[in-house]
Amino acid sequence: MNQSYWQKTTQKKEFPKLNQDIKTDILIIGGGLSGVMLAYQLRNSHFQVTVIDKDNLGSHTSGHTTAKVTVLHDVIYQKINQYYDKQHALLYYQSNKRALLDIKKIIRKEHIDCSYQENIAYLYTSDIKKYPLLEKEKQLLTSFGEHVIEKNGTGKMIGLKNQAVFHPLQYLYAIIDICCRFHVQIYEHSLAKQIIRHHDHYTVKVNDHIVTCRYVVHATRYPFFKKGMYFMKIFQSQAYVGISSKKDSPNSYLSLDDHHSYRPLNDHQAIVINNKNDWFAQDSMPLRGIPYIGRLYQNEFIIYGFQKWGMTLSHVSAQLIKDLIYNNKNPYEELYSCHYFSLSFSKQYFSLMKKNILKGYLLQRYQTVDSEQIERKSGAIIKKNHRLYALYRDENGKDHYFSPYCPHLKCLIHFNSKSQTWSCPCHQSVYDAYGQVLEGPSIHDLKKC
Ligand SMILES: Cc1cc2nc3c(=O)[nH]c(=O)nc-3n(C[C@H](O)[C@H](O)[C@H](O)COP(=O)(O)OP(=O)(O)OC[C@H]3O[C@@H](n4cnc5c(N)ncnc54)[C@H](O)[C@@H]3O)c2cc1C
Repeated sequence: MNQSYWQKTTQKKEFPKLNQDIKTDILIIGGGLSGVMLAYQLRNSHFQVTVIDKDNLGSHTSGHTTAKVTVLHDVIYQKINQYYDKQHALLYYQSNKRALLDIKKIIRKEHIDCSYQENIAYLYTSDIKKYPLLEKEKQLLTSFGEHVIEKNGTGKMIGLKNQAVFHPLQYLYAIIDICCRFHVQIYEHSLAKQIIRHHDHYTVKVNDHIVTCRYVVHATRYPFFKKGMYFMKIFQSQAYVGISSKKDSPNSYLSLDDHHSYRPLNDHQAIVINNKNDWFAQDSMPLRGIPYIGRLYQNEFIIYGFQKWGMTLSHVSAQLIKDLIYNNKNPYEELYSCHYFSLSFSKQYFSLMKKNILKGYLLQRYQTVDSEQIERKSGAIIKKNHRLYALYRDENGKDHYFSPYCPHLKCLIHFNSKSQTWSCPCHQSVYDAYGQVLEGPSIHDLKKC
């Protein structure tokens, strides 16, 4: 199910698997838009840059996105204004506005053919109680210098001109081609498992080999390591995306009511979220509404929490991490600083964990499914000899048993028949029906029983 339209319509590039120990200056872990854009920013540097990805470049969220290139990020400006102040909201706006313009410039300068199309991005609601949200967002954007279009009818709408949509994988692959011309080294099917900090360098275990480097950048969308408690500061949010055979408008829309999303694709089709499920994707959501982009320790950097707005934020993060590596001043360093932690923002995290642990306990005792009741192409948690198992019954009626606990932090997984996947409600690791890990933070498959 999870091949996206973008993957089906681009010629995939193949890169080798890391099969020896190597030395490099900068190791970027993760070959989605955030990792690749950083490699692009560093292409001219005197550093040897290496990008590794555990699967294929662009095969995760960047290859499953809806790719609206906009600064209208839901109602983010009032969220930041509320948690912080207007100055922080302005900085967030300015960094993304600059990124929006940079993307356009890069596409022109590098002659990238990626169906880039300018349009108007709208936010709308038909719930009268939400009108003040749109009004507030409009006021903030206007005070930042934007001309905000407003429409009132059966509902309320605000919009910004000169936003865009594009084909994210055509863009990503064109950027990769440029990186290769500048001798950036790229490895696919190369899983980073462990990072060891030494006095003046790092050693990273990748597959069964060691990469020695001066700088490490985590561009994995969600941390695969547990230090820094990032698993308590970020959630992942999943959505089903699909192709609609009807193109209603050349503009893009996002609903505040049910997060229905629409963007035009070509003359006849559009991409929508919420009422189609051709593929699914997930992104990491920071608890305080601002992504974590910055220095973790010494020469180790992280890029997390794009909250479904990674087209511009991957450019913001690339410029910021480049400046940090070069010790250049960057006006957005403090805004995106990644060391922030507050228990009040973690309330959501704790309540989810509590719910899940309780659910696990109750399931153990009372709610397991009788294995006889499981239909073909379905899965459930069952109890056998006082132990819990995750059981998937395939289309031929063959049973596959796994441990029901997510290898990441041992939460109890559940089966989603729509996507034919197992997923963990705590940190949203996703496994296919046969237990193979599809989306992290887990880096391990479900244990077979
Ligand atoms: C449904 C949906 C719709 C969206 N629509 C929009 C939109 O319209 N506009 C917008 O601006 N943004 C949108 N986004 C957000 C945007 O797509 C993401 O923020 C962005 O693609 C994330 O890029 P990334 O590089 O951080 O992550 P990814 O593309 O997921 O890349 C991370 C890479 O890291 C690799 N990796 C992970 N762990 C390891 C490891 N241990 N070792 C080696 N490699 C590893 C993975 O294989 C993966 O390729 C949307 C997101 C979703 C979920």
